[in-house]
Amino acid sequence: MAPTGPTCAMETERIAELERLVDELRAELAERKNAERELKRAKATAEAACHTKGELLAQVSHEIRSQIQLLTGAVELLRETPLDQAQTEYLNAFHHAAEFLLSLVNDLLDNSRLEAGRLHLEQIEFPFREFIDTTAKLITWQAGRKGLVLEYSVASDVPARLVGDPKRLQQVILNLAGNAVKFTDEGKITLTVERDPDPSPSDSTTEVPLRFTIQDTGVGIPGEKLDEIFERYAQVSSATSRTYGGTGLGLAIAKGIVSMMGGTIRVMSKEGKGTCFVFTARLCSPGLPVSPDTERRKAANPQERSLRILLAEDAADIRMLLSAFLGTTSHAVDMAHNGEEALKKFMAGDYDLVLMDIQMPVMDGFSATRKIREWEQQHGRTPVPVIALTASAERRDFLKTREAGCTTHLSKPIRKEILLQTINEMAQQ
Ligand code: ADP
Repeated sequence: MAPTGPTCAMETERIAELERLVDELRAELAERKNAERELKRAKATAEAACHTKGELLAQVSHEIRSQIQLLTGAVELLRETPLDQAQTEYLNAFHHAAEFLLSLVNDLLDNSRLEAGRLHLEQIEFPFREFIDTTAKLITWQAGRKGLVLEYSVASDVPARLVGDPKRLQQVILNLAGNAVKFTDEGKITLTVERDPDPSPSDSTTEVPLRFTIQDTGVGIPGEKLDEIFERYAQVSSATSRTYGGTGLGLAIAKGIVSMMGGTIRVMSKEGKGTCFVFTARLCSPGLPVSPDTERRKAANPQERSLRILLAEDAADIRMLLSAFLGTTSHAVDMAHNGEEALKKFMAGDYDLVLMDIQMPVMDGFSATRKIREWEQQHGRTPVPVIALTASAERRDFLKTREAGCTTHLSKPIRKEILLQTINEMAQQ
């Protein structure tokens, strides 16, 4: 029997209440869905903006690197001419300015790679002690210019060979040591490397946790600023940038790299006394020992032979520069202004090596190399080394050069010594 009287009225009230609740929930759900849609849209917009920013930065960096190539190349060529002392000093100033611009562009690119999670670490085997010696030489040179000395040591239980990314590791050490030199007027810089005495637990048996300490006797950092300095664009004060220059990106990048190496970075400092940066990193011990034979082969440097080189480059001033670099060798150089011309010349000539710029009008270096490889295959020719010349600093672009068939790549700005050394190595293969 259906309820009547007061029971029925209560039921009706409860149903109405429930319906109200359902309506409220529906409204809330719709609101949430709306908010979620908004969030998704905002995220997509932010990602697109970040991507555009990254692309723009890559493009600008490309242009700046090409110009720096001209600056540093011209300095190298001028250094080979007779110069008086004043001219040498002017050239040095020129060279430092170009180097500074390059490091600035590199920092901006690294920062953008870290932000986008696109920074890549190599895993290569390298002689660790030699690596520290070379790095220390670079610091000693910098420190010496300010009358400072560098003392450095590597603990005896650190393996002689390790696996990791020596370039990125050197970048972190040089950044910290560069700051140490920059912010110290008197005294010394100390660099020590030892096994990390307090490593976080790990299952890996090949990992070698290391601890690096870089200490100076400089101006120090105020206590209240110690937490901030690892943040992007952070500097102790605006006076710092006026007095010492810099962008405040170095430590943020160092922290990012160290964290990718499975380590941490911290700082201790006393104003007027000095600063001490300590960072840890996990490297690995190599699997198989490198045979002395391989080492010997690597060290061997047989007589340079004269090569017929085809240089494909659209920019007239870079063509001039690179041919001047090659002018002091016994190699014969032919020029092409774009990929299409390079392909024609390659098919008609008998070249030992190709220097292939990547960004060229009419036909770019990727297509030209691909077509060269196809032609070689069709005619049963042994592949000739093709060295890609690129103003890009992006790993994905380096990979693209390999996919297109290039043997190796050189990233602009290209130093004369590196160019000649790479040509030599390619000719020996
Ligand atoms: P930059 O040196 O380009 O400004 P960094 O991120 O490398 O950027 O350093 C951030 C700031 O931290 C510096 O501007 C400086 O104020 C402070 N700093 C870093 N290292 C030292 C040091 N060894 N001594 C004193 N101050 C330092």
